[in-house]
Amino acid sequence: MRTDRTFTMLKPDAVEKGHIGAILEKINASGFRIVAMKLTQMTTADAKEFYAVHSERPFYGELVEYMTRGPIVAAILEKENAVEDFRTLIGATNPADAAEGTIRKLYAASIGENAVHGSDSDENAAIEGAFHFAGREMF
Ligand code: UDP
Ligand code: MG
Repeated sequence: MRTDRTFTMLKPDAVEKGHIGAILEKINASGFRIVAMKLTQMTTADAKEFYAVHSERPFYGELVEYMTRGPIVAAILEKENAVEDFRTLIGATNPADAAEGTIRKLYAASIGENAVHGSDSDENAAIEGAFHFAGREMF
């Protein structure tokens, strides 16, 4: 299992507010190499599958609505210790708890609409990257 890749989505709220460039700038400045990237929109079936682990949680329906309401930027990122370092860069799930300077502190509106996704394990990074990208789209 490789430990140098993670998967991210700039979520619909971040795209709607015009924050793609600013967030990518922070990702680049933090030393991540872009392996794969695209602007895409998840279907309801996609979002239900992607977030299946949360299907019993009370926020699941809202989460699926939110994640499908507009385009996202999906990307695979590479750096040593990618999963943990990217989680540090994005900050806590709830922006109210996120450290100063983190992407969620800067750009997230709420615990639901929190601007960005980051994989939580090397295994999920591989699964989530493969969910969005074919091998020939990874460089
Ligand atoms: N979420 C929510 N309410 C909550 C917790 C999470 O709407 O109480 C949403 C939020 O968009 C979050 C996503 O569900 O990013 C996945 O939740 P998770 O606990 O995996 O947080 P993350 O790994 O994104 O920090
Ligand atoms: Mg998570």
